[in-house]
Amino acid sequence: MSTTYNFCAGPAMLPQAVMKKAQGELLDWNGLGTSVMEISHRSKEFIALTDQAETDLRELMSIPENYHVLFMHGGGRGQFSAVVNNFLGENGKALYLVSGSWSRSAVDEAIKLTSDAQIDTLDLLVNDNGISAVSIPELAGKATDYRYLHYCPNETVDGIEIVEEINCPWPIVADMSSNIMSREIDVSKFGLIYAGAQKNIGPSGLSIVIVRDDMLKMPSLPQSSIMDYRLAVKHGSMYNTPPTFAWYLAAEVFKWLKVSGGVAAMAKTNAKKAELLYDFIDGSDFYNNTVSAQNRSLMNVIFYLENEDNNADFLAEASRAGLVALKGHRSVGGMRASIYNAMPIEGVEKLVEFMKGFADKYQA
Ligand SMILES: *Cc1c(COP(=O)(O)O)cnc(C)c1O
Repeated sequence: MSTTYNFCAGPAMLPQAVMKKAQGELLDWNGLGTSVMEISHRSKEFIALTDQAETDLRELMSIPENYHVLFMHGGGRGQFSAVVNNFLGENGKALYLVSGSWSRSAVDEAIKLTSDAQIDTLDLLVNDNGISAVSIPELAGKATDYRYLHYCPNETVDGIEIVEEINCPWPIVADMSSNIMSREIDVSKFGLIYAGAQKNIGPSGLSIVIVRDDMLKMPSLPQSSIMDYRLAVKHGSMYNTPPTFAWYLAAEVFKWLKVSGGVAAMAKTNAKKAELLYDFIDGSDFYNNTVSAQNRSLMNVIFYLENEDNNADFLAEASRAGLVALKGHRSVGGMRASIYNAMPIEGVEKLVEFMKGFADKYQA
């Protein structure tokens, strides 16, 4: 079988070593004679797995002790409503920063669940001659007492990443679905971090929530028990049956990250991978990227062919070369190469080589 490099934005490729290990122990996990998905989530073997997963994640992200780590249902979007229902109560207010399509979706959900007066939004996107950038205004002086500020540091669809720290007097809630563990961050700067698993952690359906314990004192709205952070803490993320197979694979990804040098090593390779691709795009008049240099995502590299008539040929030839899922999101068009932690640098090298060859062949 020739190597396929999968650039899908999500569910994304998983580390090959993890997939092979899972394959090898699919029918007989841990000497139990059954697969990990056929055992009780309350068995001592499964609890050992979840304990190890939490320990590993805490180590990988240097999560302080006053934070809870939760493994929940419902992916990224599940958290759009969970955050509102857990923290806003009847009259609490929240500020939502909008920097692209996912942060916009988070606001829409928040507005749907609250009264008009509870949600304020700030649009951060500026467009200068077709180049988008994020501009963060001074927030410290704002008088409103928000329960939290919500933002999305990596906009998966738009290829926009916010690297600079947000300075504000309110707890920060961050949707890190597509850049968790791609670079080092200081968890203590956040009130809550959440991430749907299927970009940088494991299979879809699972979401990781890292929440500071004082956040759980905020008044909540009536809500479904399975999305209640307090219940999740109380029951060790097992108020109901958790997505056990996804949890197992996430645990394996954490182990893989640790033996691969942890988040610092990932960050280094991720920067190299992205540089390779952006440098090539910038040096070519066949392809272009429309995001300002300081906001270019390390995880999702969007690019356009100057002549969009070649899009279909590009995708078909790339696919034949073993480079799959490069089509951009339907809302923005063009191409997108998602190069999460699991994408080896060889995949990006092969993509650049292909793009060069394609440009040479199709250049007018
Ligand atoms: C993929 C993604 C989501 C949505 O995840 P689902 O699991 O499909 O709900 C939310 N936010 C960001 C930043 C994402 O990349």
